Amino acid sequence: MAVSKSALGAEIAPGTDLPRPTRKEAEDAVRTLLRWAGENPDREGLRDTPQRVTTAYTEWFSGYKTDPTKILARTFEEVEGYDEMVILRNVRFESHCEHHMAPIIGKAHVGYLPDKRVIGISKLARLVDAYAKRLQIQERMTAQIANALNDELRPQGVGVVIEALHGCMTTRGVHKNGLTMVTSQLIGAFRDDASTRREFLAAIGNPTSGAGHFD
Ligand SMILES: [Zn+2]
Repeated sequence: MAVSKSALGAEIAPGTDLPRPTRKEAEDAVRTLLRWAGENPDREGLRDTPQRVTTAYTEWFSGYKTDPTKILARTFEEVEGYDEMVILRNVRFESHCEHHMAPIIGKAHVGYLPDKRVIGISKLARLVDAYAKRLQIQERMTAQIANALNDELRPQGVGVVIEALHGCMTTRGVHKNGLTMVTSQLIGAFRDDASTRREFLAAIGNPTSGAGHFD
């Protein structure tokens, strides 16, 4: 991935048009948060923590460097007339909520009804990651995955259902453990055709019915 540079040559933070802070600035910010939490950033166990946190950030937020349209660029037309639903179930993902930067851990179910073209199944998993590895709210992530697939593949319909646990709900605030949030985005035949919708929801265990469980 090429690194964008501003007119003045400063590195641009991926996903924005803002200059990217230096690693030193990011590590200093972590030291500040450690002090805010009541810690001494200079004690031995914490000395390398700012560096570890910034390294973890490059993985947790790597989605900003990924262009979802490129993931979906390669499709296959030689499908021997296959015209049934394609579903990828239980795509585990890790994301972070944009309100607290707390983990969102969940699974996505992605389905589509092809219109002559299909896409490699691993691409669907990478599409989920491209949006998960950002600061998110679950509703937007659900819509982004569905819309990207719909826009690039132009299938007859798309269905995306996400079930997730939100760290900001389980470890702070209301402290509700085990609560799973379920969101869904249904497009085309998945929205308009009751039997297509039923087939999809049944195949993924009907998490939207309230009977779904998280494991
Ligand atoms: Zn939150």
